[in-house]
Amino acid sequence: MTGRAGESAVVLLGLCSDTNSSFMRGPAEAPSQIRATLHNGASNLCAECGTDIGADPRFCDAGDVTPASDPDGFVTDIEDAIGAVIRDGGRPLSIGGDHAVTYPVLRAIAGHYGPPDILHFDAHPDLYESFEGNRLSHASPFARIMEEGLAQRLVQVGIRTVNDHLREQAARYGVETWTMQDLAADRFEPGFERPLYLSFDLDALDPAAAPGVSHHEPGGLSVRQALTFIQAIKVPVIGADVVEYNPRRDSHGMTASVAAKLVKEIAAVMLNNPEGNRGRT
Ligand code: MN
Ligand code: MN
Repeated sequence: MTGRAGESAVVLLGLCSDTNSSFMRGPAEAPSQIRATLHNGASNLCAECGTDIGADPRFCDAGDVTPASDPDGFVTDIEDAIGAVIRDGGRPLSIGGDHAVTYPVLRAIAGHYGPPDILHFDAHPDLYESFEGNRLSHASPFARIMEEGLAQRLVQVGIRTVNDHLREQAARYGVETWTMQDLAADRFEPGFERPLYLSFDLDALDPAAAPGVSHHEPGGLSVRQALTFIQAIKVPVIGADVVEYNPRRDSHGMTASVAAKLVKEIAAVMLNNPEGNRGRT
């Protein structure tokens, strides 16, 4: 581990997993690409607020974890790795993997803190009861999270692929949905007042800005919009993930640079909103 773990540390952790992807493989290769881009010298490690994550000893890197591909091993391996970060006093900022990783991550988070509020950026609600027979599919993590009571509130933003089943699932679990049409009409008032977990699926962004994802869904967020929402967070952020980067679909590393930028900005928000610093958005 680089940096100094301990109270309030923000711990980068690569999750190399894409065995629950429904459409194509690739996100298991994301952590090394995002990490390399973060440190390639094309940019510095300073977030826009002025926080230099490269100079802050509370920003650590714990390397990568490759979970087992069988269902029980997949959940246990990720839950244990995140649990170890938390037990050491850190807050996990995981990179890579497909979105299936967020369910075992939340088992560890909720096991320690109790159910947090979740801010979930995505083109897709990821609420399928199961997808192609896989209850751990990257199309289903938030169904598992909500049915196990691992979140107090689930606030989804950037959504633009809702069908009847997903609409029923959102109603069943009381999910708060902010679609791209809502954002186009300047409607987004999440009103967070409790510690927050942030989950960022890169396909929330418009594929023109982030082509390196498995599922291209036009009409998405600009990078600037996403940064504005992240920078507005004033409550403690107890964990975060940046998922679904697929290097096999990227063009000139553009999406890796977007992912690295998000890592910097999310890490800065986490460093500047430590646990116990309770505020309002
Ligand atoms: Mn997703
Ligand atoms: Mn998605």
